[in-house]
Amino acid sequence: MENVTILGSTGSIGRQALDVIGEHPDSFSVVGLGAGGSCPQLLLEQARSFDVATVAVHDEDAAAFLRRHLPDRRVLSGRAGLMDLAGSGQAHTVLCAMVGMEGLYSALEVARSGVRLALANKEALVAGGDLLLKACRRSGSELIPVDSEHSAIYQCLQGQSRSVRRLILTASGGPFRDHSAQALAQVTPKQALKHPNWSMGPKITVDSATLANKGLEVIEAHYLFSVPYESIEVSVHRQSIVHSLVEFIDGSLLSHLGPPDMRIPIAYALSAPDRLPLSVNYLELASVGRLTFEPVRWRDFPALQLAYVAGRTGGSMTAIYNAANEVAVAEFLADRIAFTSIARVIEHVMEQHDSVPVDTLETLTACDDWARSCALKEAGRLSNV
Ligand code: NAD
Ligand code: MG
Repeated sequence: MENVTILGSTGSIGRQALDVIGEHPDSFSVVGLGAGGSCPQLLLEQARSFDVATVAVHDEDAAAFLRRHLPDRRVLSGRAGLMDLAGSGQAHTVLCAMVGMEGLYSALEVARSGVRLALANKEALVAGGDLLLKACRRSGSELIPVDSEHSAIYQCLQGQSRSVRRLILTASGGPFRDHSAQALAQVTPKQALKHPNWSMGPKITVDSATLANKGLEVIEAHYLFSVPYESIEVSVHRQSIVHSLVEFIDGSLLSHLGPPDMRIPIAYALSAPDRLPLSVNYLELASVGRLTFEPVRWRDFPALQLAYVAGRTGGSMTAIYNAANEVAVAEFLADRIAFTSIARVIEHVMEQHDSVPVDTLETLTACDDWARSCALKEAGRLSNV
């Protein structure tokens, strides 16, 4: 029996992880759940139906609600509560599926505690990759990616990471892959929240529309697989069936194919190197018919290029990229800036920043705070233009 803790259990990844675990009650036991607190009722239901001993919630009102309804369980609150649960060592695997750089605080606790870290929260790695990897190395914590592209590459690389020539990340292209540059300037949050292939949380759905998601994933791949940026490429693949590819020095390409269903990489991260049977729609190749690959429209989706610039600059610049993007996405979703202003905000904040090495969490937090206030100012300026 594997003990599992899920941070971000009320979100898209968290709920799907509980679906996977619900299909395998003899293999997994959920010992901890964590969330932000915007849906306390759902967290309560999850805690009851999986008979979870410890629940952590960021929001204090949500914590009070849970303490009232779960008098016989441990209810922790605030960032400190989530960090406590993350680092408690009670689980064999902690799935980090919170959204945003906020998740880094808990992910670091998991990495320090030495247990397996199943990481969906890509912003944690983009902002704090050096710190997180160092903590994993020190404790022996195994880091397994949940992001579908990285899970694909991880599986293709088993045992042969020395002879890699290139990683090719596939991208669906998002809902606006066929929009003209002019049309992109007019798109609304509602349109951006309709992804053609995947159903996900709002932040990553907007990131998929700007291609900032692919930018975050390029940086994520660099950290996870120690591959230089010039050897990480992106290919637009509309069907989201090929989840990514690895090219080796002899010209061989290995890829991972499957239906676009996040339960597959989630289950793999929980059970690797074993595989679990899942109630997925197994792929019928004849009904897929064609697999297509196209170049990225770099000019129309500048957030992706900016991620390469941030990655190649290194140090704090990837955290700056991430923070500026988080703020810009929130401003776009609140209807205060245009879709095309998201990349402008990121570019502006990066231009104002001189990268520094990220040796401590304090340095990182200071950079992150600075980038957020700079991004907010620039978003305010752009909203009035
Ligand atoms: P979501 O918005 O659906 O869920 C986010 C979760 O984080 C919720 O449970 C929320 O309560 C929790 N949360 C938010 N703020 C918090 C805080 N301050 N403290 C504690 N918990 C907090 O997001 P999602 O789509 O599930 O994505 C989660 C992460 O996984 C993101 O980093 C995303 O990029 C990554 N990811 C998601 C998918 C997907 O298909 N949804 C695929 C690949 C990677
Ligand atoms: Mg992905």
